[in-house]
Amino acid sequence: MQYDAIIAGGGPVGLFLACELRLAGSSVLLLEKNEDPSTPLKRGWMGARGLNFPSAEAFYRRGLLNDVKAASIGWMGGERPGMQFTGEGKVSAPPASAPRFAGHFAGIMLDASKVDFSGHQWIIPGPSVGGGMVSLEALECILADRAKQLGVDMRLGHEIFDFTEGTDRVLARTSHGEFEARWLVGCDGGRSTVRKVAGFEFDGTDPELTGYMAIVEFEDLDGLASGFNLTPRGMYTHGPAPGRVGLVDFDGGHFDRSSEITLEGLQSMLQRVSGTKVKLKSVEIATSYTDRSRQATTYRKGRILLAGDAAHVHSPFGGQGMNAGLGDAMNLGWKLAAVIKGWAPDDLLDTYTAERHPIGEWVLSWTRAQVAVIRPDPHARAIAAVIRDLIATKDGTNYFVEKISGVSTHYNLGDGHPLIGYSAPDFEFEDGGRLGDLLHDGRGVLLDFRSSASLAAACAGLQNRLRYVSARAKDDKGLSSLLIRPDGFVAWATGGEADGVVVEQSVHRWFGLPDRNIN
Ligand SMILES: Cc1cc2nc3c(=O)[nH]c(=O)nc-3n(C[C@H](O)[C@H](O)[C@H](O)COP(=O)(O)OP(=O)(O)OC[C@H]3O[C@@H](n4cnc5c(N)ncnc54)[C@H](O)[C@@H]3O)c2cc1C
Repeated sequence: MQYDAIIAGGGPVGLFLACELRLAGSSVLLLEKNEDPSTPLKRGWMGARGLNFPSAEAFYRRGLLNDVKAASIGWMGGERPGMQFTGEGKVSAPPASAPRFAGHFAGIMLDASKVDFSGHQWIIPGPSVGGGMVSLEALECILADRAKQLGVDMRLGHEIFDFTEGTDRVLARTSHGEFEARWLVGCDGGRSTVRKVAGFEFDGTDPELTGYMAIVEFEDLDGLASGFNLTPRGMYTHGPAPGRVGLVDFDGGHFDRSSEITLEGLQSMLQRVSGTKVKLKSVEIATSYTDRSRQATTYRKGRILLAGDAAHVHSPFGGQGMNAGLGDAMNLGWKLAAVIKGWAPDDLLDTYTAERHPIGEWVLSWTRAQVAVIRPDPHARAIAAVIRDLIATKDGTNYFVEKISGVSTHYNLGDGHPLIGYSAPDFEFEDGGRLGDLLHDGRGVLLDFRSSASLAAACAGLQNRLRYVSARAKDDKGLSSLLIRPDGFVAWATGGEADGVVVEQSVHRWFGLPDRNIN
């Protein structure tokens, strides 16, 4: 059988991309090398991953957000800013007056009481506004269930080790034989086989440090502080779950990550970085990472594409990696499906690299900046002091929160209305429905608040990919109509009379030419 697409890797990015492609009608084979993807490293606080605004919005727009929230360890949104930890991994409910988590930069905490999104004029309060913490295991389960419901062919224990690319197909060689598809997407993580076999350039910087994350039992805390702690010798974290510790060791990234992390090794590093005489009784589980920062120079080579860690690796400081990968999947899915269906304009797939590469580049630079602040030297301490002063101000806090939350994510989609290129506000309609509900089926939306016949006509013959919706919004933000892509980003908008020619050009740019067989 020939599939439309093979996805290598069943991590969060591969699974989400598989859902996106299937939703748009493509046949998908997902190959995951592990027979059993579940591991204690993905569970509870050990596997906890922060989800930013765009990720929450992406799940919301596909009807998955309630499941993600229900499985989350903590969620922020609603009346009070900041995150209060609840649910999985929680030991006891923190009092309502307890400080809430609003993120950190290089271990310097952001004060949730200073967070203020009122300056973001396009945000409409609603279920999608916010972010949270969820374990990798819980998230992968939700996505795998959805992928199964949609009919993705998922094969566990299938490792791709090589492939050949022809003019119109790719032949993948795996531990279980050969599989053929029109496209191959490498979502196979930081050491991606797909990336290496295809020969993508992977530019960047070498590691300076090894980071550790562990669940331990303490014999003697000896004053080990809670939370994120920047010290003269680096950084360590302690909590929020009992026994959860993290630390960074500026060893040039030389620790052999295939070797065991011993109690003695961890204890001595923790003592050195924290400046305490902390004693460990046991190490339940431990893992390591580095700050190696590299990014593929393009995310596409012929019929081979990359997404997630396969396309960009960096340290986990600031919790951006999975978010960047989920954003890749949301951006790529509908475009690749459009090419597969044959209705995409020629250059639609090129916009994937053009839009997502700058986001990945920013993530690399954001994490590098934090390494520079954490470094155990007087210059870094001096920069940290300046940043601490800035973060102590309301504007400073909101600068960092804006970056970390991804609330201002923008693609360069051309000139015109200032909303173009931003995520669409989640308009609430007079009947109580919301824009997010309209995006569940993965089609774009031409939203018309003025019931204009010319806008309805612009969607003729495109119903399988673009939905025309005439409605009244409770707060239309001064807009009269807007074109929203399947990923929820605004391709065109106006607050006045729509120019039929401009609308048609924009519709055809993103959704192709009308199909005469569709009435
Ligand atoms: C300690 C730590 C904390 C982090 N915290 C955050 C956070 O708070 N927020 C955030 O956004 N990110 C965070 N990250 C980063 C995040 O975990 C990754 O960016 C994310 O898991 C990448 O997802 P992925 O699907 O691209 O790759 P992966 O999760 O690595 O999945 C790749 C999959 O491909 C499979 N695979 C590999 N090779 C092959 C092959 N040849 N054939 C078939 N299958 C293959 C693997 O088995 C794996 O299942 C953190 C990372 C670490 C280490």
